[in-house]
Amino acid sequence: MQTWAQILASGQKKLQDAGIAEYNLDAWYLFEHAFGISRMQYFMCSVQNAEPTEEALKEFNEGIERRAKREPLQHILGTQEFMGLEFFVNRHTLIPRQDTETLVELVLADHKEKDIKLLDMCTGSGCIAISLAVHGGYHHVEAADISTEALKVAEQNAEKLLQDPICFRHSDLFGAFDPNADKFDIIVSNPPYIPSDVIEELEPEVRDFEPRSALDGTADGLFFYEKLAEECGRFLKENGSVYFEIGHDQGEAVENLLRTHGFKDTKTIKDLAGNDRVVCGRWQTV
Ligand code: GLN
Repeated sequence: MQTWAQILASGQKKLQDAGIAEYNLDAWYLFEHAFGISRMQYFMCSVQNAEPTEEALKEFNEGIERRAKREPLQHILGTQEFMGLEFFVNRHTLIPRQDTETLVELVLADHKEKDIKLLDMCTGSGCIAISLAVHGGYHHVEAADISTEALKVAEQNAEKLLQDPICFRHSDLFGAFDPNADKFDIIVSNPPYIPSDVIEELEPEVRDFEPRSALDGTADGLFFYEKLAEECGRFLKENGSVYFEIGHDQGEAVENLLRTHGFKDTKTIKDLAGNDRVVCGRWQTV
């Protein structure tokens, strides 16, 4: 029978052999998850020589096998932290990225008022809409996605993280919205924006396991910004704003699209790594 220390070491070795850059850490996460013990507990209780249950061992080994095949750690653990909240994730939604926190933080900093109406278009896991509702305390948040499977994930996250439900809508962009009835102060979006042929160059974790429909922005990556720039104005109140996450080299193109469609005061904002990450603009009807 193997001890915990031996099991951990063999998991780390398997991930290292499979070329996983963070093999040490990833094995630890899988270990903590399977054995229900934190790294700190492991060291403090001197349990390195303990023998695990067969069930936990099976779970750990399966996790290592999946990770060795480059499945994202978050799919195996079933969660990803975003804005200090734990989101459930699966293969139907993009895994929340730290870069996207830039967008959420910007909206929170710009809008302290609570009684505004916000819409998150292409919500995926719901991470943007839900963290805005939690941290901003906004009374009225809606979120839309074309994928019913993604909406199931978002609804599950909202149920876990929010007291007041937010309104999720199944919609192909604004297809299910009514410009006379649906007027928002803020529309945010992290749409698919990777140019199609760049997807092939991404890490296997992203390329082979995350939904293509959440990544692929067509040949130039700009398809969804064109649609959003064209349509958002009809669904914004006067002086309403848009905030879009963008790829690092799309700032100028997206600002131009917004200005062409009547948006003012466009700006590109950088993420913590210093890359352009968010474009915002203000809607003026006069
Ligand atoms: N930032 C994501 C990535 O680089 C893509 C997000 C998107 O297309 N909306 O994988």
